[in-house]
Amino acid sequence: MSRFASFSTRSAHAGRGPARPSVSRPLTPPIYQSTVFAYEHLEDLDTLNPDKHSHSYYRYGTPTHDALEGAMCELEGGEDAALAASGTAILTAIAFTLASAGDYLVADRHLYGGTYTFLTEELPRLGIQTQLVDACDLDEVSYALRKGAKALFVEAITNPTMRICDLPALCMLGERYDVPVIVDATFASPALIRPLEYGAAISWHSIAKYLGGHSAAVGGVATGEHTLIGAIRQKIAQLGGCQSAMDAWLTLLGLPTLPLRMAAHCRNAQAIADYLARHPAVEAVYFPGLSMHPHYEFASQLYPNGYGGMLSFTLNGEMEAVQRLVERLKLIVFAPSLGDVTTTLAYPYATSHYGLPDDVLCSLGVERGLVRLSAGIEDSADIIADLEQALS
Ligand SMILES: *Cc1c(COP(=O)(O)O)cnc(C)c1O
Repeated sequence: MSRFASFSTRSAHAGRGPARPSVSRPLTPPIYQSTVFAYEHLEDLDTLNPDKHSHSYYRYGTPTHDALEGAMCELEGGEDAALAASGTAILTAIAFTLASAGDYLVADRHLYGGTYTFLTEELPRLGIQTQLVDACDLDEVSYALRKGAKALFVEAITNPTMRICDLPALCMLGERYDVPVIVDATFASPALIRPLEYGAAISWHSIAKYLGGHSAAVGGVATGEHTLIGAIRQKIAQLGGCQSAMDAWLTLLGLPTLPLRMAAHCRNAQAIADYLARHPAVEAVYFPGLSMHPHYEFASQLYPNGYGGMLSFTLNGEMEAVQRLVERLKLIVFAPSLGDVTTTLAYPYATSHYGLPDDVLCSLGVERGLVRLSAGIEDSADIIADLEQALS
């Protein structure tokens, strides 16, 4: 640039030249924080030459996003993956890709509160109806699907009672009625279950939970077959809901430890559930790794690597007992999310399920005394000691 005499011209272009050729590469993928990419040749634009891969504009993806998409394909065993700004953004793109006005969807009644509201309140405004079913009742699902549903939405492990439906059987029903099965596997992560292996059309996650793992990265990811994911990627670009490169990069930093973290989350959740199940102040414990859980036997087959890091329990004294617990805990933090390396508590009645009608709350098992716990990776003895002093 020094051949330009003017200081303002040199300053405007300073540092923007192509990178110096190097025989080495960064071991950790870098963040490409550039809203646009520069071309040498007009004909290299992917609109003019679809065979050439290029990055053009941030909203359509950057090499940082490519790296995360590639990683998710490896973890899920999928052909392609698409990223979005949040789990909710990827859900929106999935729904808009699969359904139009006049269509109907089928969904498990026990879906995450935000998904439930989107399907039952937002989509009907656009002429898309959702029929709610109990996804653990295969006859009910079968009956609902056969009238031409555009998709079946289920979760690998549901919130907050940790139900585990027969995913392989649901996928077989999807195949029989030619309905794509869309699985929110956020609570399990691909370390515990990979829905595509059972025939699901899409496995999707809220990255803010286990994939990120450190309560720093936000995003959503859907993995599946090329054509469908390509259509979803295009929808995300149209809706404007791209993930930030920083969040994609933070997610990449979290992924290598996913199996180690999940093993610790599962081990600790089991120890905490065993402890709470014997505690006199605890009325009920919801954890698929307890033999008292209605889906224990089935979960043991489907989840050989662990029953997840999430559990819920009800306290005898309703909301006052929950308040007392939150005040007294020293190590465990009250924070309405999940999947962090530290153990956190949430209160579904006032967070994930806030505002739902009482009869709906009741049918979902969301009582005022219900506490949800996300087991961290600490020493389980310390977590249990904190619960012991707080519940005494
Ligand atoms: C958090 C969550 C979502 C929503 O994801 P966001 O990233 O918060 O938009 C969807 N499903 C489940 C199971 C979740 O826990």
